[in-house]
Amino acid sequence: MVLLKSAEEIELIRAASKIVFGTVRDLTNYLRPGLTTGQINERANALIVEQGGRPAFLGYQGFPAATCVSINNEVVHGIPGPRQLKKGDIVSLDIGVELNGYFGDAAVTLPVGKISKEAEELISVTRGALVKGIEQATSGNRLSNLSCAIQQFVEENGFSVVRQFVGHGIGSKLHEEPAIPNFGIMNQGPELLSGTVLAIEPMVTQGDYRVKVDQDGWTVVTRDGSLSAHFEDTVAVTDNGPEVLTGILTL
Ligand code: MG
Repeated sequence: MVLLKSAEEIELIRAASKIVFGTVRDLTNYLRPGLTTGQINERANALIVEQGGRPAFLGYQGFPAATCVSINNEVVHGIPGPRQLKKGDIVSLDIGVELNGYFGDAAVTLPVGKISKEAEELISVTRGALVKGIEQATSGNRLSNLSCAIQQFVEENGFSVVRQFVGHGIGSKLHEEPAIPNFGIMNQGPELLSGTVLAIEPMVTQGDYRVKVDQDGWTVVTRDGSLSAHFEDTVAVTDNGPEVLTGILTL
C-alpha cells in the first residue's frame, strides 16, 4: 500500500532532505584525487550529525557505513574504505538521513578531475533521466509512466537501465511502497496521488544492464565491467506538481 503523507509529514521529510542536500553539496566541493572513500564517509557522517540528523544507511540491514560510495563500474552500495579516488574516476555518493522519524534520500555521480567524454555523457544522461522521471511525478499519472520516461530517455541515448535495483516510496521508513523500476510499459501500476513521496533513482550503465553483487556482499557492479552512474532525488507529488525535496539537480 502506498502511504499518503500529510502536509506536516512532507515538512518533516523536507527537513531530513535538507540535511541530505547540505551534505551532498559540501562533498561535491570536497572531492579530489587522493581522497579515500573512507574519508568521504567520515566527512558525510560528521556533516549529517552536525546538522542534527542520523545517517540512515548506517546499520541498515547491516550496512557498515553512513554513505554508499561507488566508483566507476560500481553501481550502488559501495562500502567506503581505504580506496583512493583517482583522476578520471566517476564516483557515486548515495546519502540517506533520518530526522525526527522521517527520511530523505539522494544520490549523485561526480567526476574526479578530468574524465573521459563517454563518462561525461553517462553522467549527463543519468542526470537527464532523473529530470524525465521527476516530470512524471504528477497527481493522476500512473507510476509506470515515470519508469517508462526514464528508460526511454536512457535507451535513446545509447545507455541501459539497471533492472535489479529500483527506486522506492519514502517517509517514516527509508524504503516504502511503491517500488519504482527504471523501466516498464506505459499506464501500469498505481495512480500517483497528491501526498505520495518517492525516491526516484535511475541507475544507468554504459554497456549491458546486468549487475551482480561483489564478494563483500554489498557492492553492486556491472557484469560487463562498464561504467555506471546514479542520480536520486526525494520528490513529493503535490496538487501543484512534483516538489523536489532533496534538490540534487540544483548542484
Ligand atoms: Mg534510495
